[in-house]
Amino acid sequence: MRHPKPIIVASRCFGFAPCRYDQTTIPAPFFERLMPHVEFVPVCPELEIGLGVPRPTIRMERRGARVQLVQPQSGRDLSDAMERFAHDFLDGVEAVDGFWLKARSPSCAARDGKLFDPESGAIVDRRTSGRFTSVALARFADRPFCDDRRANQVALRDHYLCALFALARLREAEREGTRAALVAFHSSHKLLLMAHGQQRMRALGRIVAAPASGSEGEAFDRYRAGVGALLAQRPTRGATINAAMHVLGYFRERLPVEARHAFLARLERFRRRPGLIFAIRRDLRAFIERAPDPYLSVQAFVEPYPVELEVIMPNRRR
Ligand code: SF4
Repeated sequence: MRHPKPIIVASRCFGFAPCRYDQTTIPAPFFERLMPHVEFVPVCPELEIGLGVPRPTIRMERRGARVQLVQPQSGRDLSDAMERFAHDFLDGVEAVDGFWLKARSPSCAARDGKLFDPESGAIVDRRTSGRFTSVALARFADRPFCDDRRANQVALRDHYLCALFALARLREAEREGTRAALVAFHSSHKLLLMAHGQQRMRALGRIVAAPASGSEGEAFDRYRAGVGALLAQRPTRGATINAAMHVLGYFRERLPVEARHAFLARLERFRRRPGLIFAIRRDLRAFIERAPDPYLSVQAFVEPYPVELEVIMPNRRR
């Protein structure tokens, strides 16, 4: 399986520069492991709007229906400056497959920023997107977002990486721009997509199989919208087991009975231990190596991203 490098917009404080309010960086061991396999576009929105390092902290405050970004110490309202910067920056990013951002930051948080009541200083919500990221989420709703806290959970990180690398491969197919490239992409991602949702996977198949009435570009646009929405859905363990059983079906006659039983037992344990997904993929790759099959050997389901990233490794919380 080829793994073109995904392009990720990332918070600059993950080891790129000590740009946090207190002049530190965020330790993120998994992020470092990811570096050789992706292309990062680092950004520190707070630096970009002119806040220095070190700097007084900023926070999100609820003012009526609006969420504002303010610096309590100086009383500055930074909302418009941040919104302008976010649009300008994202306008300038030519291609992006996903985002990896700092959790809980009033600028970068994807889903878990704190929102304060300006009068009492009380926290009124802990699930607000940071002001930079809320613009990114609105503009790139079909791209995967990860943060350093979600990256600690193997199942969430695996979901993110599966979607990220699939979208990078789709971008490569789009660059080729032919119907054959779209068919090849869909064919090699069938089992992976099946684990995310069988009905939607079939709907995507209909886009690919439809007679070429419009341009190739239109077919890719429709397909991309559908595949982004499908990959955003977390695969259930039951659907993942179904897809794995589908692969196993190809080897019914070719595998020793003990190997089949050991694999089935592992699938059963996977229902309770999501980290076993790596061992399941390893088994499936070994089966395919033993009895090569042209359809299975290109399936993203058995190797959705570089195997060096299949590790149960925490991304330290802070
Ligand atoms: S969380 Fe975002 S704004 Fe804050 S230091 Fe990191 S990159 Fe800069």
